[in-house]
Amino acid sequence: MALNLDLAENLDRVRERIERACDRAGRDPSSVELVAVSKAHSEQLIRAAYDAGLRVFGENYAQELAEKADALRDLKGLRWRFIGHLQRNKIKLVERARATVDTVDSIRLAEALSARAEAGGYSTEALIQVNVGEEAQKSGCTPKELPSLVEGVQQLPGLALRGLMTVAPHFDDPKDARPCFAALRRLAEHHGLETLSMGMTHDLEPAVAEGATMVRIGTALFGEREPDRRG
Ligand SMILES: *Cc1c(COP(=O)(O)O)cnc(C)c1O
Repeated sequence: MALNLDLAENLDRVRERIERACDRAGRDPSSVELVAVSKAHSEQLIRAAYDAGLRVFGENYAQELAEKADALRDLKGLRWRFIGHLQRNKIKLVERARATVDTVDSIRLAEALSARAEAGGYSTEALIQVNVGEEAQKSGCTPKELPSLVEGVQQLPGLALRGLMTVAPHFDDPKDARPCFAALRRLAEHHGLETLSMGMTHDLEPAVAEGATMVRIGTALFGEREPDRRG
């Protein structure tokens, strides 16, 4: 994309969308954190986004995350969130970026993350990904598996469980995703968890209406991505 100008405009538009959705819900816009999803975009674009004021970036391929984190270490206060499916043999890459892991979906992954963090003398912030729509092709634990996973994760010394994350099914009318977001909010409330990462370019409004504390926005900020060639 033509860098800084478009980006600043896009960022304004996304912030307006968040503000309007908050207004309608009687919420304070500062209660919704914007995660800029920079997957498939260049380091140069991330630098421009940082200059425009963005600080939190989401990536969903571990190798890509590690490489970008290495290249952008000079950007003070930049933080990474891992939002893709994580295989245990890729934990080292996520660790290199000091990223939070927003997609914990099994106790085996959680244990491996915790062990790594403990060995390094730190703790990793984590969200559990819930497949609220129960779609076969999506990752995340099922709502039924959640209670035991929450309990297990909370016992791990190297993980700090902050909340839940979901990717809603795609609906032509984004309002139709609202029941999924409501379901995630209720699950979080039930477990006393505060962070709710839900809402993307297409469905940020219904997510904010249902209490999202974190929205993950790629396309509305950076434009369309190249088709994924990583298979
Ligand atoms: C790509 C991605 C996003 C951002 O999606 P957009 O529709 O481009 O805003 C958010 N969350 C996850 C998990 C993603 O993989």
